[in-house]
Amino acid sequence: MNEQISFIIDIQNIDMELSKLDELLKKIIIEIEESGLALRTKEAELERLKEELLEVNKKIGGSELDAKSFEEKIIKMKDAQKLIKTNKEYNAVQKSIKDSEALKKKSEDETISHMEKKESINDEISRIQKDIEEIENGLSDKNSEYKKNEQEFDAIKKDFINKREDAKKKIKKDYLDIYETLKRNKGFPAIAPVMKSGACTGCYRMLPPQQFNELISGNIFMQCPICSRILYIDAAAARVEPDPDEGKKNNKKKAARVSCIK
Ligand SMILES: [Zn+2]
Repeated sequence: MNEQISFIIDIQNIDMELSKLDELLKKIIIEIEESGLALRTKEAELERLKEELLEVNKKIGGSELDAKSFEEKIIKMKDAQKLIKTNKEYNAVQKSIKDSEALKKKSEDETISHMEKKESINDEISRIQKDIEEIENGLSDKNSEYKKNEQEFDAIKKDFINKREDAKKKIKKDYLDIYETLKRNKGFPAIAPVMKSGACTGCYRMLPPQQFNELISGNIFMQCPICSRILYIDAAAARVEPDPDEGKKNNKKKAARVSCIK
């Protein structure tokens, strides 16, 4: 293989490792951010429930007080009733007692329904407090994981960056510029192997036969006429090339390849 090509492959391998490390850290950061958001949502929900609980407690106090005042009223009316002389008056007071008893019953029913509501709010509060605890534990684990990885990755990255500097020195400036531009614009791979069929593994289009033959003969720096990626012949890639008649696994890739053959 052309020496320059193998140096570019080396630098791409280093860059891919560096990018993998960054991706891993980024993934943990995203998880930490998501947990933080979930935590804030749960905390807001908890606040809302606590306010609701205060309201319900006030309502319970109110309906209990109402029932008590109707009860006192009923006792007073029953006492007064004993001193009444006429039937008409007696019946009028009796009706008032009945009305007050109905109102007292209504207040007691309200208290029961407020108590039920209070119980369900308390259940929900316990559930959310448990969720919050779980999220907080998870967050603290993730934060430690991040710190640990960051330190480990720092050491690994330094090593890769040194290796990268060495690899960089061996590559011709023009080639390096092309590689860096491709990496920036297209991501990986910036340098792509060509399949045995003559298809670029960057864009899955077929190379013109003459260009493919030139590449096979070796020792040249060549870019894909379609996607501009730097090309090379890789024996391993040629071996793993899917047989067009075999399986449905690589349908998507195959479809892209077949469509450009047509
Ligand atoms: Zn291509």
